[in-house]
Amino acid sequence: MVFFHVRDLEVRAQRFDVQLPPGSIEFLDPKLTQTGPLNAAGRVELVTGALGEIRAKGHLTVRMQADCDRCLEPAAFPIDSDFELYYRPVEEGYGEERGLNAGEAEMGFYEGDGLELTDVLREYVLLALPMQRVCSENCKGICPVCGQNRNQVECSCQAAAIDDRWEALRNFGK
Ligand SMILES: [Zn+2]
Ligand SMILES: [Zn+2]
Repeated sequence: MVFFHVRDLEVRAQRFDVQLPPGSIEFLDPKLTQTGPLNAAGRVELVTGALGEIRAKGHLTVRMQADCDRCLEPAAFPIDSDFELYYRPVEEGYGEERGLNAGEAEMGFYEGDGLELTDVLREYVLLALPMQRVCSENCKGICPVCGQNRNQVECSCQAAAIDDRWEALRNFGK
């Protein structure tokens, strides 16, 4: 448990260097699992001139696993990147406390007298994952007709549908 108190940050920036085994962070998404240790190192500091605004900056490495949106098989999502997140205190009237959402500015809010490191790391992992989680760009997904995984089985449903379309075109020309 690493907690950054604003009163400590007022004195100096705080460094962190942690290795968290799977299970240390609750991701609140049953389809998402951490499959390797999460390594994160960096620093947390107050942004000069901004009322209690905290910047968390560093590098994070972890292997995540999620069900592919198309074929539902488990797919690996390694993350290995720099991050920079900003947090504003709720009570300064900046706004309601809420989680970070992908696609928004990487700005969150904290309540009380500081920031929990695991909250920062969880939010960054969720931001770093792609919106569409697919095992591969070429994933063919589940056949809507027979329900088989089209990466594993070549069913004939798709071919039949295409034949029907050709048939329709041929009839159109007549
Ligand atoms: Zn897939
Ligand atoms: Zn099929």
